[in-house]
Amino acid sequence: MAFRINNVKKYQQCPKHFLLDYTDISTGFPFIYFSESLIDAAKKHLHIAADDLFTGTTSQTSADTKAGMESKTWACLARFEKHNFRIKVSFLKKEDDGYIYYALCRTCFPKEDETRRLFMEKWLLEEEGIHIKHIALLHLNAAYERNGDLDYDNLFCISDNFYKDTNKVGKNVDEVVNRYQYDMLSALEDMKRIVDEGECDNEFKLECTKRGKCARYHSCFNEDELEDDSILFLNGTRKKYEMYLNGKTKITDVLLGEDVDGTYLQYAQYMACLKNREFVDVNALSSWLETSIHLPYIYIDFEWDTLGIPMYDKMKPYDVLVFQYSIHIDDGETVIHKEYLGNGGDSREAFIKQLIADIPEEGIVIAYHAEGAEKLRLQELAYQFPEYADDLLKICDRMVDLTYPIMNGLYYHPKMRGTYSLKKLYAVINDNHGYNELDIDHGLKAVEAYRNLDSLSEEERLKVRQELLEYCGMDTYAMLKLVNHLKKICEERTKELLEKLKK
Ligand code: SF4
Repeated sequence: MAFRINNVKKYQQCPKHFLLDYTDISTGFPFIYFSESLIDAAKKHLHIAADDLFTGTTSQTSADTKAGMESKTWACLARFEKHNFRIKVSFLKKEDDGYIYYALCRTCFPKEDETRRLFMEKWLLEEEGIHIKHIALLHLNAAYERNGDLDYDNLFCISDNFYKDTNKVGKNVDEVVNRYQYDMLSALEDMKRIVDEGECDNEFKLECTKRGKCARYHSCFNEDELEDDSILFLNGTRKKYEMYLNGKTKITDVLLGEDVDGTYLQYAQYMACLKNREFVDVNALSSWLETSIHLPYIYIDFEWDTLGIPMYDKMKPYDVLVFQYSIHIDDGETVIHKEYLGNGGDSREAFIKQLIADIPEEGIVIAYHAEGAEKLRLQELAYQFPEYADDLLKICDRMVDLTYPIMNGLYYHPKMRGTYSLKKLYAVINDNHGYNELDIDHGLKAVEAYRNLDSLSEEERLKVRQELLEYCGMDTYAMLKLVNHLKKICEERTKELLEKLKK
C-alpha cells in the first residue's frame, strides 16, 4: 500500500511509530462530530458549479485524475500517486498560470505545523506536473455563530497566512512552505526498507514524550511493569526522562530543588514514595476542607459532544453539546442522586431546566476539573440561553474544583503513579473496584454510545441508556467517596500526630 502523509509525518517523528501505524490501520473514534462532511460544506462556501467540478474517488490513479481535471476549473478530493506516495488534495482551482490549492484545514486557526503536509502535497503535485502557484488555507470561521440555517458563506474563512499561537495572523503560507526542505525521496526509500524488514528499535528516547506521551507509548513500553515510585511518574518536569536515561530510576533518587524545582506536587510524590504511604498535608488539607466546602455537598458531572460544525442556534464551530449530567447531593445524613440524559437532538434547554430544578439552592457545588469543564459549560449555556443566565451563573459562583487539593500536592498516594484522574483516584481509594466493572468506562465511550443511540433497537437503546446513566453516576459517586476519604485520612493523621505529641 502506498505511503500517505501521516505515514511520513510519523516516520519523521519516530520510525517505530511509522511502522506501528502502517501495519495497524484501525481507525480511532472521531472525537469531533461533523454533522456533514467538511468537504461538502466547503464546496458550498466556494460556490463551485457542479458542471465545472471534477470529484476524485478512492481507486483513481494520477492519470485518471489528470484526465478528469482537464476540462474543469475545479477539482476536489483529487488523488495523485508517485514514488509509492499517495495524496488526496481538498480543492484545486485552475488558472492560466497554474493552480491555486485551497487546503482544507480542520481547525479554526491553522498553525505553522500544517507546513509539513502542505509541503508534501505541493511536492507530489509538482512531481505530477501540476504547478501550484499559490496555497490558501480554507478553514472554519471561529467567529461564526449559527442563527437558523447554516450560512456557508460565513462558516469558513480563506487565509493566505498561518496563525500564531495567540490566534493572531502569522506568516505567509507560500513563503513558509517554499522555505521548508525535506528529502522526500530518501525518506520514502527508507520507509520502504523499514516495512520490508518489518521491525524497528523502540528504545526509550525523548521523542517518546516530547508533546505528551506518544500515541504508541503503551505499545512500546509497558508501564505496568514499573514500580509505583518510578521516576517516570514524577509530575511537572520533562527532565525526568533525561534523568531516567542517565540512571536515576526512582522518584526518591531526585534531588528536589536541584534536579527539579520541587513543587508542592513533586514534594508530595517524593514523600509518599519515601514513606511508601499516602502523603497528606494535614494542615492545608483540613483547612481546604473546612473553608472551601460545606454541607450540603452537591457533586456534579456533565457529559458532552463536540460539534465541528455548529448544529444549533447560538453555537460556533467546535462548540459543545451537553447531553447528560449526574448529581449526588450529600447533606451529611442522606445521599440523593439525580440525573439527566438527553433524547438526541438539541437537548440544551431541557438539560438547563432540569439542572436548575435539581440543584438545591444552598450548598457548595463540587466538580472535578470544574474550571475547564462544568463551569465553562454553564457559562456557554448562559450565553446561549440568556433567559436562564442568572440561575446558571449563580451555580457557577458556588462551584468548587475538587482537583485543587490533588493538583496542589495536599494529597498523594503512591499507587496514583503520577495520574490525577478521578478514575485512578477512585481505584486507589476503593481497591481497584469501580469503573472497570462498567460497560461504559470513560468519557469518549459515553460520547460514542450517545451518538449511536438512534441506530439501536429499542431494547438495545434502553440498555445503553442505562449504561450511560451508570457511567456518569459513577463520576459523581467517585467524587463523594474521594471527599469522604480526604476527610477520614485528615482525621486519622491528626489523631496520629496528637498521639505522637502526647508521648
Ligand atoms: S513510544 Fe517512542 S519508540 Fe515507541 S513509537 Fe512512540 S516515539 Fe517511537
